[in-house]
Amino acid sequence: MTLPDVDALTLAPYAAREERSRGRRYPEPAPEYRGEYQRDRDRIIHSNAFRRLVYKTQVFVNHEGDLYRTRVTHSIEVAQIARSVARALRVEETLTEAISLAHDLGHTPFGHAGQDALNECMQPHGGFEHNLQSLRVVDELEERYADFPGLNLTFECREGILKHCSARVARGLGDVGERFLSQRQPGLEAQIANLADEIAYNNHDVDDGLRAGLIDLEQLREMRMFRRQYERVTTRHPGLAGRRLVHEIIRGMINHIVVDLIRASQARIEQAGPASIEEVRALPQPLIAPAEETLQEHRELMRFLRERVYRHYKVLRMTTKARRVIGQLFEAFMTDIRLMPPEHRELAARGESGQGIDGRARAVADYIAGMTDRYAILEHRRLFDPAERT
Ligand code: MG
Repeated sequence: MTLPDVDALTLAPYAAREERSRGRRYPEPAPEYRGEYQRDRDRIIHSNAFRRLVYKTQVFVNHEGDLYRTRVTHSIEVAQIARSVARALRVEETLTEAISLAHDLGHTPFGHAGQDALNECMQPHGGFEHNLQSLRVVDELEERYADFPGLNLTFECREGILKHCSARVARGLGDVGERFLSQRQPGLEAQIANLADEIAYNNHDVDDGLRAGLIDLEQLREMRMFRRQYERVTTRHPGLAGRRLVHEIIRGMINHIVVDLIRASQARIEQAGPASIEEVRALPQPLIAPAEETLQEHRELMRFLRERVYRHYKVLRMTTKARRVIGQLFEAFMTDIRLMPPEHRELAARGESGQGIDGRARAVADYIAGMTDRYAILEHRRLFDPAERT
């Protein structure tokens, strides 16, 4: 049955269009009651990797408190911001949502500390990049379908998931790697998801940092983006304090940057006048970005968070522990793959017979990267604490 094509009425010419999609790696019949990008999104939500995001850290390790963001709440906030922008700019909202929900699927346990630690362990074996790992999860590692490995997502979704990538790695990736070698852009849906990621974590890390007592309102008022909203809220509601004050300010900051992002991007789109997604891809610069002044304020806040939150001694203590856990797990499994559960041991053995020691290392990295914070802690205890059951 054919459904009426509502997209044709609402989508801009430069939006991704499923009828002109560059397709899936393994061709499949079209879905019956859904679009192709809906199918992408649904496969992502039903994946194992997506469910694991519940117990993966953003900044604060999972057991530190129930109100902090985890990777799954972060991904949902990214999707919410990205969808609003996509709809306002008349591009593919569902594709934007799918990219947003999938962007962190390859993240290790313990946030950036975990990624850095695993990357260090993997240096002699080709390194570890979490963006590339997200693509690896959807292309190879998920085991759900009889006819293909991974989730077999559309090219447009895979292109959006691979945000960054080194030229060395790009050469081995085929179609999704091309743009990193020829300096081209991804579609607008991917560009939007990328910016929405930054907007989401900048703002929720202010919220989480305040909640954890690592930063306070006095320090934040030195940031232009925060100060403007602080003054707006306290002028309108002079007695407001506590969580409601904080939420009103953050709400104002998100709204300010999102509205600015839509307006500035719209102006750039009008000026460049791309007639198709291919013309968007061929442009020398991305079209999705806030105005220069807003971008500066946004970066000021990012620097503040790096100094005051991500490098706060309490966060550093946790991240140091996390690095130790990842490093020791890697070393133990590399030394003896029989310590891994049978399916991972088999993958390591198969990797080794194909690519030698690098193949073994990649299988160990895949196993560790897939762990949640609490699973990694438990695995570490099972391996190193003689009193713990194995
Ligand atoms: Mg993210």
